[in-house]
Amino acid sequence: MNPINDMHARIQAEAARLFQPEYGHFIEGQWVQGETGRTIDLLNPATGRVLSRVQAGSAGDVERAVEAAARAFPKWSAKPPGERQRIFLEIAHRLRKRLDDYAMMETLNNGKPISEARRFDLPGTIARFELFAGAAFGLHGKTIDYPDAIGLVHREPYGVVAQVIPWNVPLLMLSGKIAPALIAGNTVVLKPAETVCLSVLEFFREMSDVLPPGVVNIVTGYGPDIGPHLIQHPLVMKVALTGSVQTARQVIGYTAKNIIPATLELGGKSANIVFPDADLDAAVEGAALVTIFNKGEVCLAGSRLFLHRDIQDEFLARLGKVLGRIRIGDPTDPTTQLGPQASEPQFRKVLSYLDIGRAEGAIPFCGGSRARVLGLEDGNYVEPTVFTKVDNRMRIAQEEIFGPVVCAIPFTDEEEVIRLANESVYGLAGGIWTRNLRTAHHVARSLQTGTVWINRYYNMKYNLPFGGYKQSGIGIESCLEMLDNYTRLKTVVMNLNEGPLGLFA
Ligand code: NAD
Repeated sequence: MNPINDMHARIQAEAARLFQPEYGHFIEGQWVQGETGRTIDLLNPATGRVLSRVQAGSAGDVERAVEAAARAFPKWSAKPPGERQRIFLEIAHRLRKRLDDYAMMETLNNGKPISEARRFDLPGTIARFELFAGAAFGLHGKTIDYPDAIGLVHREPYGVVAQVIPWNVPLLMLSGKIAPALIAGNTVVLKPAETVCLSVLEFFREMSDVLPPGVVNIVTGYGPDIGPHLIQHPLVMKVALTGSVQTARQVIGYTAKNIIPATLELGGKSANIVFPDADLDAAVEGAALVTIFNKGEVCLAGSRLFLHRDIQDEFLARLGKVLGRIRIGDPTDPTTQLGPQASEPQFRKVLSYLDIGRAEGAIPFCGGSRARVLGLEDGNYVEPTVFTKVDNRMRIAQEEIFGPVVCAIPFTDEEEVIRLANESVYGLAGGIWTRNLRTAHHVARSLQTGTVWINRYYNMKYNLPFGGYKQSGIGIESCLEMLDNYTRLKTVVMNLNEGPLGLFA
């Protein structure tokens, strides 16, 4: 047998096993066709082949979904916390039981290496359901006592919330959005990304007997066809978006119609800073991980690598060696370390930034081109790339590329690197590598960014607040404080005095 034919046959067989040929919208517990009959092909980015089709949603589909969510709200919000908790634990249990299947779904549709999906996406998804299951009994109001009154502060769900998610970590995004919203008693209309959403749809196929009808409704399709109708719907009380700054601007515009709150998790161009006293083995490994993890399609990526001038040459030589050995290939192979970009537009975007970088005068120290993978010539592969001769003001250092592309920028001292790191419209994450405690804390406190990792990039811990400064977003996620996003406070004042005030005696 020809190994390339074998590989394609195996990939096709996995897709046929895990996906339906076509999906409807998921509304009120049913799979329904879109009103226009238009569909979107979803592709495997490693092979370019069609995996399945989803509905291209429109205004009428949104209407049905929002009405279903509104109908489900009174019963869902009145459910005892223990019942909601049991539903979440059952979801977590089912995800854990089929972890390999869900990981494969992410890999087939998104292109992420299966080893990452198994080690990162699925455990993170399960953890979010378990975290918020634990919050079911912790949601309560408070009382404030006065000599002549009692103030009761109730915490109430909003009602129907709209949630819009991207394509880079679909199941993580799904869990990060619906778990806090549902545990707080809201019902949801969720719009996943039009290019990668098969794992999300399969999730609801499996969980439809656990979640009561209408509690979560899914409308698939293009953002501009769905967003305005969904977010401006009079029954939608809140919106949460994870996506790009451009989309966030549009979403903020829609929220103006009915004056509803928005939480926004947006892009980044984070600084990964290596001081000369750092453990270079660990820092090189960290920088290599940042370059290739999820093909660089990570909002948190430390895509500006600030290297102290004293160690710059040695660091780059070592990083180049590691990146030169990265195994690029079939993402369903457990030994693959770098898969294809998730979609053709994203692939073109990354390649265009490789040209922009060169035109700006930067030089690829390693990589710099499309990668060719034997047997997967139609895949969206890009070589892991480190640009040198980068000025922090260049477009490649300021704009989010969302690919395996890192800009190395030299610095001389702490104050210079703090200034450069903060010269960005974004502020989502950052990394610091040093053995000096004072430097670590001083720099961490000086960075205008939501998360800082010291001596280990992507050191993900559950239940730590995660959110952006500046144009990286508004509001925090991934932690119990997030329940504040999904509840509002009602004050009731109980008068303890008898009789009238005597104002008009
Ligand atoms: P995107 O903004 O193009 O799309 C995100 C989602 O918004 C998709 O579902 C899309 O269909 C939808 N959308 C697009 N236009 C819309 C509109 N007018 N109204 C309503 N919805 C609309 O972003 P993307 O390319 O899918 O995702 C990548 C971006 O997401 C990057 O900027 C990345 O940094 C960011 N991201 C942020 C986080 C975070 O937590 N901060 C996590 C992952 C990704």
